[in-house]
Amino acid sequence: MLKQTNQVTPQQLETVPHSLTNTDPWIYQRAWVEINQAALHHNVRQLQQILAPQTQLMAVVKADAYGHGAAIVAKTVLEAGVAGVCVATVQEGIQLREAGIEAPVLIFGATDTPEQVRAIAHWQLEPTLCNSQQALLFSKILSSLATTVPVHLNLDTGMSRLGMPWQQAKQFVSLVQQLPQLKIASVYSHLATAESTDTTVIRQQQQRFDEAVSQLHQAGIVPPLLHLANSAGTLTDQTLHYDLVRVGLALYGLYPAEHLRRVIDLQSVMQVKARVMQVKDIAPGTGISYGYKSIAQKQLRLAVVGIGYADGIPRNLSNKMIALIRGQQVRQIGAITMDMLMLDVTALPDLQTGEVVTLIGQDGEFQITADDWAQSLGTISWEILCSFKHRLPRVALTVAGQEG
Ligand SMILES: *Cc1c(COP(=O)(O)O)cnc(C)c1O
Repeated sequence: MLKQTNQVTPQQLETVPHSLTNTDPWIYQRAWVEINQAALHHNVRQLQQILAPQTQLMAVVKADAYGHGAAIVAKTVLEAGVAGVCVATVQEGIQLREAGIEAPVLIFGATDTPEQVRAIAHWQLEPTLCNSQQALLFSKILSSLATTVPVHLNLDTGMSRLGMPWQQAKQFVSLVQQLPQLKIASVYSHLATAESTDTTVIRQQQQRFDEAVSQLHQAGIVPPLLHLANSAGTLTDQTLHYDLVRVGLALYGLYPAEHLRRVIDLQSVMQVKARVMQVKDIAPGTGISYGYKSIAQKQLRLAVVGIGYADGIPRNLSNKMIALIRGQQVRQIGAITMDMLMLDVTALPDLQTGEVVTLIGQDGEFQITADDWAQSLGTISWEILCSFKHRLPRVALTVAGQEG
């Protein structure tokens, strides 16, 4: 019988860029993403400094750690002292287990097929439960496997996404408590507007959460852990911290909102770099790239750079973005293509093929952040970070004095 070949195991998914070592000779040849482990350590320390005394820090590493590489980020932040990690899917959880991560792994998404339940039990992952049907299914399958998993109960206090409506918290939590093989690890909720300077909705959600919890207490149920805050909630104030905070964006060195910038000092973890593939002079009147969206107004020197929209540089940034070379700002020009883009390097007459271009990151006194791109594109930095493709190898810049 033929072996099924259409089933991709998490291990296979992990192979291509992530298993490379930083010393593989071709890794820096075209374009890559650098992950600064020292910045991750720094951000964990900064966050820990503002947490309420009993609060634990959980690192959100869903979506391949916002594009940074889940395994390397999880290992680094666990070393730096976070209590556990959060993912969105069962597959993301399995990838971490296969990478040797033994810490608690909380899955945010709903999991409600028998296969998912068995995988969760096998890999000792910690699911989110958000309705009774799901709780019953878990209990039934776990009973047949004679095993237990810690479960996290999600209440919807105003996000209108996943979660049991907060008004029904008591019935839901009591049911789960009575079901065999389910061990309540936490009760949590998620903020919808934590980035806003207007805290009305934050306070309303907090009040609903507190009310739901007090009803649980009245029914004699005391969940071991309560949690509500994402990055923005964590940076807002300690009353939102409860027993743990679930921090994603801030861990990667970005601020969820301008007004939260003053709270702590974060360092960007990701840098996106590529090399110059060719340098050429073009005459006035020459069209540049597909569609001739740009025509040289004067004699120009162009650098062709080996990175494009198939690597995750948004094509909508065409003619709108800046890159850094030798600590100087240069303008991108013409349509961004699938694998390459052009820069106007007229100001750098002796630029050579092979020189490094920083698309996101710091070079000399200039820095380009995911926020800059998000602003040009009318989106949020979260989306920018997640948009870099696996074609770009992730290379970890190791913490000084440590082997990577
Ligand atoms: C993604 C997510 C977070 C992390 O959000 P950040 O704003 O990146 O810190 C926290 N909690 C839940 C439920 C999430 O889905």
